[in-house]
Amino acid sequence: MIKKAVADAGFDACGIAPVVTLTEEAARLRQWLADGRHAGMAYMERNTDKRENPALLLDGARSVIVMLLNYKPPVTQPPDAPKIACYAYVRNYHHVIHQKLKRLCTSITAAQPDIRLRGFADSAPVLEKVWAMRAGLGWIGKNCLLVSPRFGSFTFIAELLTSAELEYDAPTTASRCGNCRRCLDACPGGALEAYRLDANRCISYHNKRKGENGVDVRPYCFGCDYCQLSCPWNIAAPPHRHTGWTIPEIVRFTAADWQALDEATFNRIFAQSVLQETGFIKLQSNLKICSGKSS
Ligand code: SF4
Ligand code: SF4
Repeated sequence: MIKKAVADAGFDACGIAPVVTLTEEAARLRQWLADGRHAGMAYMERNTDKRENPALLLDGARSVIVMLLNYKPPVTQPPDAPKIACYAYVRNYHHVIHQKLKRLCTSITAAQPDIRLRGFADSAPVLEKVWAMRAGLGWIGKNCLLVSPRFGSFTFIAELLTSAELEYDAPTTASRCGNCRRCLDACPGGALEAYRLDANRCISYHNKRKGENGVDVRPYCFGCDYCQLSCPWNIAAPPHRHTGWTIPEIVRFTAADWQALDEATFNRIFAQSVLQETGFIKLQSNLKICSGKSS
């Protein structure tokens, strides 16, 4: 019943794992933080107890339902345009996922009124890639992203914690990256060692962070996809099938359109975009770097 409700809510894949305390994974997270590899993402230092033990997020939590939403774009930007990461092609995924989670919770509680549920997407203190792996949806690749054998890594991950005991999927127990190292070689900032990211060297971190930081983020003016575009699992993955999701200007704007963009137009076109979270001033600064016009 749960998996049908998940599919009806519009998610592309679903797996279910029993709740356990993530002792080893939390230890690795603490070491990564202690090494300073999270750069200025201070929020990562908070709530590590909740990341380790999901029962602190929902009293009596027994199961984690993990869902994937494919966002691999069917159409990409014109070749001369300053690059935008593919996840920003679509309307703000936080809103899209929250709407889907709401719909899913309504349908589950209609069938099982006593069930307790709590949904999360991206910003919550949940080790989402670990749960996706434990729910059998894929493995954490050398690019530090979840790689689904069906959808690659261009997926958003959402979770639903529940008090119900459910039928569990077989976990993924090993990476299928093998000898491949394409993502490591493709990273322009040298931010990746196998299975370890140094955000200090990641252009996606720098071109979204407010303020000037003097980092050469070319050719990306928002985010970065090199470690995903290079992955063979993504090359083979199907594009998403969600209609009305893509912001048309993203795949239409040429380099000249981006250069001519003013703040009022930015606010109108990108009102429902994650670009809005970074803001016009930062985007404009990145656009200047990408066009070689920054001083
Ligand atoms: S997003 Fe770009 S800079 Fe960051 S790890 Fe991936 S390839 Fe490297
Ligand atoms: S590019 Fe290769 S090493 Fe990197 S995540 Fe994909 S399969 Fe793994």
